[in-house]
Amino acid sequence: MNEKLFDIKSASPEELKEFIVGLGESSYRAGQVFKALSEGLSFDEMTTLSLALRKKLSDSCVLPSASIRSKLVSNLDATIKYLFAYPDGEQIETVLMQYKHGDSICLSTQAGCRMGCSFCASTKNGRSRNLTAGEILEQITLAQRDSGRKVSSIVLMGIGEPLDNYDNVLKFLSLVNDPAGLNIGMRHISLSTCGIVEKIRELAEKKLQLTLSVSLHAPNDRIRQQTMPIAKKYPISELLKACKEYSDKTGRRISYEYAMIAGVNDSRECAEELAKLLRGTLCHVNLIPLNPIDEKIYNKSDKIMISDFTKTLEKYKIRVTVRRRLGSDINASCGQLRNGKWDDRI
Ligand code: SAH
Repeated sequence: MNEKLFDIKSASPEELKEFIVGLGESSYRAGQVFKALSEGLSFDEMTTLSLALRKKLSDSCVLPSASIRSKLVSNLDATIKYLFAYPDGEQIETVLMQYKHGDSICLSTQAGCRMGCSFCASTKNGRSRNLTAGEILEQITLAQRDSGRKVSSIVLMGIGEPLDNYDNVLKFLSLVNDPAGLNIGMRHISLSTCGIVEKIRELAEKKLQLTLSVSLHAPNDRIRQQTMPIAKKYPISELLKACKEYSDKTGRRISYEYAMIAGVNDSRECAEELAKLLRGTLCHVNLIPLNPIDEKIYNKSDKIMISDFTKTLEKYKIRVTVRRRLGSDINASCGQLRNGKWDDRI
């Protein structure tokens, strides 16, 4: 990104006002620009603005930054997977999904990921860079414009670790939540983290009403350390303490994600251990049958193991669901997003 240009898509309404006034325009124009940006309009399309202002904006701002490089539409459900490309050569993926209650979008927060979970494709080439707040937001506006669909809920579960890009992600949350913009309520947003403890604590202080999803994937440190390098930094006991703080401060239930990996974490003993770990906390467990990635180091658990695991958790009165798999024919499921490997089919 050209440093001299103003990153207009990441600007809050206040920053935008200051910028517009600095261009010698009246401040109410900022509201018009903010709304137009949240609709994904280009400067040319902002016809409520004078030509002179549109020219000033395009001379001084970065817009647009991403373009749709490719897209795949599922034949099984209405899932669409987008490959977006940035001028600096980075590429990320975004998935638009359809549920009974409306459309949901799975957003990427970084180009690549440096967390190194061994079952996840997104981390295989490491992290290239963070996405800006505007680049995260723009995934919604580009997908909405292309598909003609309207996003009503968001999951920050695409490529990247949201809490490893904390400031930009928080800024994105305030932009997308703004009544003058897309106005998506915090209760319609889920943020998934591999468990960066100090950032969970920081987020708890903000008292946002979003759903915190925590990738637990194991009932003890020994198993967790086998698949998730972050587990070597923070023991589960510390992670759960931070999660308790989060639900105490926000009143929100924590959603624990648990990928079911055959022979690794799916035994009845694991289920018992997990139940005892979480018993009495404000939580929900979301089991994710492991999705295949090219490296094929692991297999997903059998249906019988998953149903047995579910029953054990239920016996301890732990709320549990099994995640539905959307877009499986286009590799759009959890852990399958990565750079490259697309043919040009747009
Ligand atoms: N970095 C965030 C977001 C990751 S994607 C995090 O770690 O939470 C969302 C979920 O998919 C996470 O729980 C992640 O661990 C899980 N996941 C990754 N690879 C997977 C795979 N191959 N099969 C099933 N779930 C997977």
